[in-house]
Amino acid sequence: MIVVMKRGATRASIANVIVRREQAGYRTHVSEGEERTIVGIIGNGRPLDREQIGRMAGVERAVPILRPFKLASREFHPHDTVVDINGISIGLQQVIVIAGPCAVEGPEQMLEAARAVKDAGAHMLRGGAFKPRTSPYSFQGLGEEGLRILAQVREATSLPIITEVMDPQMVPLVTTYADVLQVGARNMQNYALLNAVGDSQRPVMLKRGMMSTIEELLMSAAYILSHGNERVILCERGIRTFETYTRNTLDLSAVPLLKQLCHLPVVVDPSHGTGKWELVEPLSLAAVAAGADGLLIEVHPHPEDALSDGAQSLKPARFAALMQNLRAVAEAVGRTL
Ligand code: PEP
Ligand code: MN
Repeated sequence: MIVVMKRGATRASIANVIVRREQAGYRTHVSEGEERTIVGIIGNGRPLDREQIGRMAGVERAVPILRPFKLASREFHPHDTVVDINGISIGLQQVIVIAGPCAVEGPEQMLEAARAVKDAGAHMLRGGAFKPRTSPYSFQGLGEEGLRILAQVREATSLPIITEVMDPQMVPLVTTYADVLQVGARNMQNYALLNAVGDSQRPVMLKRGMMSTIEELLMSAAYILSHGNERVILCERGIRTFETYTRNTLDLSAVPLLKQLCHLPVVVDPSHGTGKWELVEPLSLAAVAAGADGLLIEVHPHPEDALSDGAQSLKPARFAALMQNLRAVAEAVGRTL
């Protein structure tokens, strides 16, 4: 429910609405606008007495939240959420670029990739230690050894790291190494995992499932938010369609739509979105033009030798050129890089 306070409602009347609901076990979110304050109240299935709340001092009206992804909705939380990752803010004017190889393959590969993306201006480093591969015969990742390598490379480059966690029981382990926990497309509706990353209170990047609607993505985000973890970043990474020339169909309309429906930052992954390195630059530019708050780009020092996703990985020089061209698009749409 959204409680719209009267213009000039006193602090005491606003506090009364919040405290009374929180004491009864509801979650609240306060948005202070120029003219009036809005209090969002979520009951997690418990009924709310709209009439009674409407009669409280200072309340103008109480209206139900219509969107099913309540905590993720703009109705509940009108202002943009900004996610801070060790001093890097995602969701403000600056477009945040997260780059690195698909998988951690070893210390040399990871350090070479990290230095290259950092030199080109990337803000964060990606690399999978636990890889959700379609085939059980494909490289599955280095596991905890991969996490240790990521931590060493963060030490050497000071780039924050994002890495995937596939299993709720692995959340404590991955949390000891990673700055951001990635929930992959295949796990977008793994509710036990969503609850575990929610509980971790660590920033989470939630990738859209390859067969998932925007509404389903937002409901999954609401699971994480329901644990009081507000640091959630959404990622559009392409959906499966009848088209076969690309690995997925990158749904760039999701970017402005998500920004309209929801308050969370939105990142685009043109690497998994297309599966082809040649398409990564044009779609990166388009994503930023469409309003993306960040990009997730696979970069490998030697894509021809990559243990996973070499065909969609940029060489460092191409990534550096992309960053140059991105700067111009970012500026054209009032953003910085
Ligand atoms: C990844 O980013 O490492 C990955 C596996 O992507 P997705 O979950 O989108 O397939
Ligand atoms: Mn990959």
